[in-house]
Order: sequence, then C-alpha cells, then structure tokens
Amino acid sequence: MDVKNLPEAANFIEQFINEDIENGKVTSIQTRFPPEPNGYLHVGHAKSMFVNFGTALKYGGKCNLFFDDTNPSKEKTEFVDAIRNDIHWLGYEWARECYASDFFDTIYEYALRLIDEGKAFVCDLSAEEIKNTRGTLTEPGIESPYRNRTPAENRKLFEEMRAGKYKDGEKCLRAKIDMASPNVNMRDPVIYRILHATHHRTGDKWCIYPMYDYAHPICDYLQGVTHSLCTLEFEDHRPLYDWVGISLGFSPKPRQIEFARLNLTNTVMSKRYLKKLVEEKLVHGWDDPRMPTLSGLRNRGIPAEAIKDFCSRIGVAKANSECEYSYFEACVREYLNAHAERAMAVLSPLKLTITNYEGEEELDFDINQTDENAGTRKVKFGKNLYIESSDFSLNPPPKYFRLKKDGYVRLKNAYIVHCDDVVTDNDGNVCEILCTYIPESHSGHDTSGIKVKGVIHWVNADTCVDAEVRQYESLLRDADYAGQDFSERMNEHSETILAAKAEPYLANAKDGTPFQLMRTGYYKKCTEGEKLVLSEIVSLKDNFNKKQ
Ligand code: ATP
Ligand code: MG
Repeated sequence: MDVKNLPEAANFIEQFINEDIENGKVTSIQTRFPPEPNGYLHVGHAKSMFVNFGTALKYGGKCNLFFDDTNPSKEKTEFVDAIRNDIHWLGYEWARECYASDFFDTIYEYALRLIDEGKAFVCDLSAEEIKNTRGTLTEPGIESPYRNRTPAENRKLFEEMRAGKYKDGEKCLRAKIDMASPNVNMRDPVIYRILHATHHRTGDKWCIYPMYDYAHPICDYLQGVTHSLCTLEFEDHRPLYDWVGISLGFSPKPRQIEFARLNLTNTVMSKRYLKKLVEEKLVHGWDDPRMPTLSGLRNRGIPAEAIKDFCSRIGVAKANSECEYSYFEACVREYLNAHAERAMAVLSPLKLTITNYEGEEELDFDINQTDENAGTRKVKFGKNLYIESSDFSLNPPPKYFRLKKDGYVRLKNAYIVHCDDVVTDNDGNVCEILCTYIPESHSGHDTSGIKVKGVIHWVNADTCVDAEVRQYESLLRDADYAGQDFSERMNEHSETILAAKAEPYLANAKDGTPFQLMRTGYYKKCTEGEKLVLSEIVSLKDNFNKKQ
C-alpha cells in the first residue's frame, strides 16, 4: 500500500488503518469475516461483511472467511454450507477459507508455552466456583487455590486433560493475569475447557477446546490478519486479545477494532432466537420470507445489491443504535423502483364489463417508466375485466376518486369508463360492474375532454391467470407492544394469502423475477407445482408509518 496514495477514510476504522499504514505498522490489509457455524447468517452479518470485505477491497487487501468453530456442541456442516452460500450470494469472495479447528494443534502448543512460562495454570474449581470468585465491578476477585501450581505440574495436568483423563468441567486451563484487574475479563479467564463432544470437523480428536477469547487472537495472527474488526460487545475483551498476542510474542500483532452492531426495529437478529423460531415452527424455516436471515431475504426476493446499499448508507459507527426497519425497506423499494418491471394483478377481483366495447386491442405498457431504455410491451384489452374490489364503492366517502355509481375513472393505460350500473348477489354484495367506455379517451391521445382524477389498474378477464398472492407483515410487533420476550411479541397475522388474478405475462416470467404490481407493491414471481405465486417483497408505501 502506497502511503502517498492512501484512500480517504470514510469512517473511524479506516482512519485507524490509514494511521497504521502511515506509521509503517502494516503494508497491506488483511481482514476476516468470522461467523460461528451455529446458524444461518442474518442482515446484521451483512453489515459485518460489508465492513470486513468492504474495507479489504477498498485497500486492495484480502478478507478471509474464518469459521469460529470452537464450540462443537452447537456447530454443524449444514450451517457451514449455508454461510458460504449466503456470502457468495451477497457477492463477496474470500481469499482463504479457514477454521479455528485448522489451528487446534498450534493453539494447544501455545497453551503449553503459556504454561511453561508461568502464564497459565490448571484450575480444579468448578464453573460455578470460578463465577463466584470472580468478584464484581467494584470488588476484586479471589485468587484460585490452584493458581500457584508449578509449570511442571500444570503441564502434566494439562496433558492429562487432553488425554481424556478428566470429565467435563472437572478441570480447566486459566490464564494467570490479575484477579484484581478492573476489567473482569482479565481476572484469570478460562482459556481451555474439557468437553467430550464430537466436533463436526475434528471428530473425537479433542476432548478439550480453547475458549473464543483465547483462540481468536491466535487464529487472527496465524492468518496474518492485520485488523480484526468486530462488534462493540468485544471492546471489553480487547485487553485480553492484546494480552494473548503480547504474551505469545506475536509480531506484527493484529489490531482489534470494534464497531456498532446493526440493530433493526421489529425483528430479532440473534441466531439463538432465530433458531428458536425455526425449532418452534413459528416460521416455515430459516429461509421463511419473514426472517431477517440472508436466506430469508433472498427468498423474499430482496436483491443482494439493495442489502449492500443499505449497509453502505447506515455507515460504520462507534456507538450502538437501532435502525428503523422502514429505512431498510426504503432502500429495497428504491432499488426495485429502478430495476423491477411493471405488471398488473388484481388481489381482490371484482368483475367489470364494458357493455359498449367489442373485439380486443393491444395496449402499450412501459416496462419500467423510470428507465428510458426499458421499452414497452403489449397488454391485451377487452370488454371483460377485473378491477380491485377496493377500487369501487357503493357508498363513497367525499373526495372518492375511484369508481362509484354514475362516476368516471380511468383504466390504467386504457380508457375512461363510466359506471352505469351494478349487479348484486342475493346478499346485496356487488358482484359485477357494468360500464361504458369513452372511445375518444385512449391514454396518450385523449380528446374526450372528460376530467377524471382516479386511475385504477385492471386485468383482462379473458386472458388472466389465477395467482396466489402472499403478503407479509413483520414477525414481531414493536418492542413496546409487550414484554421483552419475543414470543409475546409475535405478530399472528404476519402472513396473508389471497386468491388473485394476474396478467398472463407474469406466469411466463422467469421464477424469482421481481415485479412492481402497479398500485400494490413489489412482488416476486415464482411457481409451485402448477401454481403461480406472487409473494410480497416490499409494499409500495411505508407500512410502518401507515399503520401507526
Ligand atoms: P448472533 O448473536 O446472532 O449469534 P454472533 O455475533 O454470535 O451473532 P457470529 O457468527 O459470531 O454471530 O458473528 C460473525 C460476525 O458477525 C462477528 O464478527 C459479529 O460481531 C458480526 N455480527 C453479528 N451480528 C451482527 C450485527 N447485528 N451487526 C453487525 N455485525 C454483527
Ligand atoms: Mg457468536
């Protein structure tokens, strides 16, 4: 990296990096994205990827995919595969893929070195006793009675731990730092524990596993990481991160920098909770379109570009805050407005017959009016149509500009029609509207002189296809709705299914294509068996503000 041509720093992380380059501490940038393979990635991870991959990219450096697999009881290969897939989908390429378990041998050797140098000891206290002797924020902890074992004794015991001589929890290895440290993480933290569990990669080779705080700085160093970018909750762990690096003489020692997590309103982002939703069948799976997982967002039809755009707009800050979900949606909407084709579907169909129209004609429709190059396509018009039942009112309120008896309305891209009469069923419900059209009112060359304020969408009843429309609301009500436990906040109406009528064009589109259903919202087209499904990506307007 040329010191003279440093990129302009866009945030505090890049300022630190620029300083490190200027001071000659680093010459090239290496970062890593470090998921634990214990679940699927969510939109919070997209921010972490944006920071880790994005920063490396900006500096012409590299970003590794590092699986933090030090916790065998919760980790699975299924999650490893899903994580790799999600990262690729977002469009990131990792330089090297590695696992904490790749380094277990070296991590163990380093532990022996700490033991030999009197910097670690085997402790026989139980987890409970360790917790009870840790002290508090205002009081120092109590030193373990095993703290002064000799290095030789510690080495023998640690080797026995590894050989499987002891049961889970019977002993552990602790760093010997300072029980009076104002930072509780520095009070002789546990760095190895006994766990007789089969690891998804190393099988039964190990029955002791390193703790995250001890393993992570070592893995960073062994990968040549220059800047270890993580979220704020690790700030208090940085002294321990540095202690490990200094004690083991790492040079150059990786630098840990913390940034704020992404928190979004109306959703949960912790993998633990998302897993609970899946296991308790409150959603259809990890990729349920209501889930904030990347697979859920993908399944929902949210483009990867929109997620990255969102991450770049929210920026990288040092202080935690909560972002409105509606802001995320606004980014998605903006992207789709520019990129999605337009089409028509009627979600709650009401028959409309034009009594004075004969034959059929093809009308020109803009594929996307925001894109000059998108062009037009033909849509068949005829006398038998469906309109949205909510676009007709028998008892209209004042200033009702849609269709009413003896009123006019424009059919999108077609003609002005006049409602002459309605047909009702035995219960008095309107089941058909009888209209006449004004031949001189064709969109684009209207010479009728009739002024209408309302424009409504429609589909041709003779050519349309049945579609199942799925609409979504957020999984959770607002945090202030009920208790803190998300199970009390579940929104039972988060999924609605409607029987709609759609243009045949939608049935012929490629699965996965996003459309703007005019006046309705953005929907993803897919097929399930013979069924055409249109599933909501994002509404046309901001629902959060509307509903409040
Ligand atoms: P969770 O609590 O959801 O399980 P985690 O932090 O345990 O999340 P990891 O798999 O350990 O998940 O995370 C991989 C990386 O992604 C970590 O560096 C973590 O800090 C980061 N990360 C996780 N959640 C967020 C978030 N909401 N915003 C930004 N970064 C995040
Ligand atoms: Mg974690």
